[in-house]
Amino acid sequence: MDESAIRRALTRIAHEIVERNKGIEGCILAGIRTRGVYLAQRIAERILEIEGRPVPVGEVDITRYRDDRPHEASIGADSCELPVPIKDMTVILCDDVLYTGRTIRAAMDAIMDCGRPQSIQLAVLVDRGHRELPIRPDYVGKNVPTSRQEQIAVGLREFDRTDGVTIIHP
Ligand code: 5GP
Ligand code: MG
Repeated sequence: MDESAIRRALTRIAHEIVERNKGIEGCILAGIRTRGVYLAQRIAERILEIEGRPVPVGEVDITRYRDDRPHEASIGADSCELPVPIKDMTVILCDDVLYTGRTIRAAMDAIMDCGRPQSIQLAVLVDRGHRELPIRPDYVGKNVPTSRQEQIAVGLREFDRTDGVTIIHP
């Protein structure tokens, strides 16, 4: 995906979010650090253009919730930075790549620790397959079938200078 393809995908996702939720009332976007936060901010900009009203954007850091990382790595880590209480809200998690689903499971735990949302939805720029948990995205920029050995390189200008998604072969 080049810069325009990413832009169009995020615009489409913004429209899908607005359509699915019949507006943006009661919704909050929660980006998963690092690149998910930039994606959430970009989607929020599109939603503002579409609906003429801002949607709150928060951040989730799932370091200490991952079930396959050593606990030492996680001490002192944050969990959620959400600008509004999420009780009875629809929290839309945003991330760059969906793979096994473990990050999203952890992010849902982190969200639930912050309050009881009415529902949680998931938006990802790339779904590369290989799920190990019963998790599926509600909004997908692009499905990219990969082997486990391949990797998706995601570049976002806020962090990586340029926008782009490519498959890296081992
Ligand atoms: P999962 O927890 O679903 O196995 O992996 C998803 C998380 O790991 C995401 O936060 C994503 O940033 C990162 N990730 C997994 N696979 C890839 C990949 O191929 N490319 C990139 N850029 N990130 C990945
Ligand atoms: Mg990540």
